[in-house]
Amino acid sequence: MSGSTITPWVVGNWKMNPMQANSQQLIQDLNQYLQQSPITEQQCHIGVAPISIALLSVQKLLKDADSPVKVVAQDLSQMAGTGAYTGEVSAELLKDSQIDYVLIGHSERREIFGDDVAKIKAKLSNALSVGLQVIYCVGESLEQREAGQAEQVVLQQICDLAAVVKVEQWHNIVIAYEPIWAIGTGKTASPQDAQTMHAKIREGLTQITAQAQHTAILYGGSVKPENAVELAACPDINGALVGGASLNAESFYKIAQAFAKTEE
Ligand code: PEP
Repeated sequence: MSGSTITPWVVGNWKMNPMQANSQQLIQDLNQYLQQSPITEQQCHIGVAPISIALLSVQKLLKDADSPVKVVAQDLSQMAGTGAYTGEVSAELLKDSQIDYVLIGHSERREIFGDDVAKIKAKLSNALSVGLQVIYCVGESLEQREAGQAEQVVLQQICDLAAVVKVEQWHNIVIAYEPIWAIGTGKTASPQDAQTMHAKIREGLTQITAQAQHTAILYGGSVKPENAVELAACPDINGALVGGASLNAESFYKIAQAFAKTEE
């Protein structure tokens, strides 16, 4: 079923980039594009996810420019509250710094940093319990796709999510479908393949929550201005999680433009 009444999201995942000076420039450039040709929050939610030590400087730049762009944390701790957990940042500490959005379950966290299902569930539960909006990432590997397991893998990841989210918390969930083989590789799932998986995810959500028709499902994996329009035309693709192309203000802005709803 079409998710076309959903306000799209376009979120830039900066990963372990860039240097402070470049991140400030990137925000200034993005602000400039948005001032020249605004995209309202009704048309598209736009977010950027900087490295943790740039969250607050980026937040200040956006606030000073009265920008609609939201600041998103790339991750958070599986530990809640405060305490003797060296190197960790909890949901409560993010909230205390007015960071209201967080990515959870990115495939790089799952594959490189050992974020297993138990850790991801703890992170989800911590984030939701303090009212953070979560962008929950799912996606299959090339091996799993070639073995015909893509749908099963992704729907299991949705079940992992459902095991944690309470009825009243679903409005704080955005899902990002990111086939691992398409992340940072220049390979994009075809709009048809992406739409098919998004429709399956929505069908799965329908069995779990009354919010299914209101839940934004973003596509991620080598999204760029050249493929954004076609992806945005798919009824169940409600935005994009953008890696590489989000490090260039013009490309990122153009992607947001492609997904932004035209005002009625
Ligand atoms: C990502 O890291 O979430 C991502 C989609 O990266 P890229 O756009 O570079 O493939």
